[in-house]
Amino acid sequence: MIQPPNAKALLIEDSRSLRQYLADAIHNAADVTVASAGSLAEARQLIDAGPGEFFVGILDLNLPDAPDGEIVDLVAQAEIPIIILTGHLDEGLRERILAKPNVIDYVLKTNVSEISYVANLIKRIHRNHQIKVLIVDDSSSFRVYLRQLLSTHRYQTIEARNGEEALQLLHEHHDIRLMLTDFHMPKMDGQTLIQQARRHFDRNQLGIIGLSDQSTPITSVKLLKAGANDFIPKPFLIEEFYCRITQNIETLEFIHFMRDSAVRDFLTQLYNRRYLFDVGTKAYEQAKQQDLGFATVMIDIDHFKQVNDNHGHFVGDRVLQRVAGALQQSMHPDDLLARYGGEEFCLLIHGERACRRLADELERIRCAIAALEVANGADQLRITASLGATRNRTHSLAAMIDIADAALYLAKTQGRNQAQIS
Ligand code: GH3
Ligand code: MG
Ligand code: MG
Repeated sequence: MIQPPNAKALLIEDSRSLRQYLADAIHNAADVTVASAGSLAEARQLIDAGPGEFFVGILDLNLPDAPDGEIVDLVAQAEIPIIILTGHLDEGLRERILAKPNVIDYVLKTNVSEISYVANLIKRIHRNHQIKVLIVDDSSSFRVYLRQLLSTHRYQTIEARNGEEALQLLHEHHDIRLMLTDFHMPKMDGQTLIQQARRHFDRNQLGIIGLSDQSTPITSVKLLKAGANDFIPKPFLIEEFYCRITQNIETLEFIHFMRDSAVRDFLTQLYNRRYLFDVGTKAYEQAKQQDLGFATVMIDIDHFKQVNDNHGHFVGDRVLQRVAGALQQSMHPDDLLARYGGEEFCLLIHGERACRRLADELERIRCAIAALEVANGADQLRITASLGATRNRTHSLAAMIDIADAALYLAKTQGRNQAQIS
C-alpha cells in the first residue's frame, strides 16, 4: 500500500524487547506503520531516507551513541513532533524536556500502563490534523503561544481577536470542532461569545473551553454557565492543557460516533431506514412546498439469494458492501442514499437530475453495478440490479416509495437488470 506523506511513526529505543512491545502497541492502537531503530545513527538514516514521512517520533533519551537526549535535537530539526521515553524523571528534567521545541509529551518507561498511554496518544496525534480549533484571544502573543501548542499536536488552527470575529468564523467554518476563548476582550467578551455561539451550536457539536486568569474566581463560573464545556485557568501547565484538550475532543468524538452508529447500517455504513425517513421526509416536504425536482429510486440486487446459496453468506455480504460503495460513488453529494432492507437500497434525488435527467441517472447507476467485479476466490463475481423510480410526489415519502417499489417489481418481471419509471 502506498503510504500518504506523514503517515509513519518513528520509534527509537535501544531495548529490543521494549521496542517491539511498543511498536506492536502503536500499530494496533493507531493503525500506523512504525519504523524503529536502536541508535541515533540509525535514526538519522531513517530520517534522511524518508524526509517528511514521519508524523511523530517516540524517542528514548538515553541511547548508546546519544546518552544525553541528543536524539531529541536531531528529530526536532526534522520538524517531527516528539514523545520522550525516559527511565527517570525529576523536576529539572521535566522542565528541560518541555522547553525543547516540538515536544508533545514525556512518558516514564518504567510504568507499563504508560505504553497504552503512548499508543493512544499517537492515535490522537494521527487524527488531529483533521480537527479545526478556533483560538479567540485579544493578545496576539497568547494566540501565537496557543497556536504553537496546538500545532505541535497537529491540530488545524484559526484565530479571532474578539467575540465578534469568532462568531463570524464559526458561521463561516462549520467544521470547527473546538473553540478556546479568553474572557476579557474588546467588542465582545468570552461570556457573551459563548452565549451567542450556543444559540447555534450545541455542546455536542462544538466544544468550548474557557481560558482566563483567575484574578476574579467567578470568571470560570461565568464561562461554564454560559455553556463552556470546560475551563483552564491561566497560567497552566502544558500537560494539563493537553490533557484537557484531548479529553474534550475525545468526548465529542465519542458522542459523534454514538450518534452516527444509531443512523447507519453496520454492514455497508450507509444510512439506515430510520435516517432515510427522518431526513428524507424533510427533503420531501421542502421539495413539495417549493415545487423542486424530487425523485425516489428503489434499487434491488437481482437473484441475490443465489449469491448466498452458491457462494456463501460472507461473499453475499461483500457484494452488498461493494454495491453500497458503487452507489455512493455514482450518487450526487446532495442526494440521500440508504440501505432500505436486505439487498434493497433507496436513493432520493434532488433538483434537475430528478426531473428531465432521471432516466440517465438510473442508467448510470445500473451500469455502475453491472460493471462491478467482486473477488470470490480466484474468480470474479458479476451481479446486476433492477431499479424502480418515481417523480410523482403524491401525498408522502412512504407513498412515493410504494410507487417506486411497484416500478421495481415491473423491472423484475420484465427481465431484471433494467430501470422503470412510473
Ligand atoms: P430478485 O432478483 O427477485 O430480487 O431475487 P433475490 O434473490 O435477490 O431476492 P430474495 O428476496 O428472494 O432474496 C434476498 C436475499 O437477501 C435473502 C436474504 O437471505 C439475503 N440477505 C438479506 N440481507 C442480507 C445480508 O445482510 N447479508 C447477506 N449475505 N444476505 C442477505
Ligand atoms: Mg484578554
Ligand atoms: Mg433481490
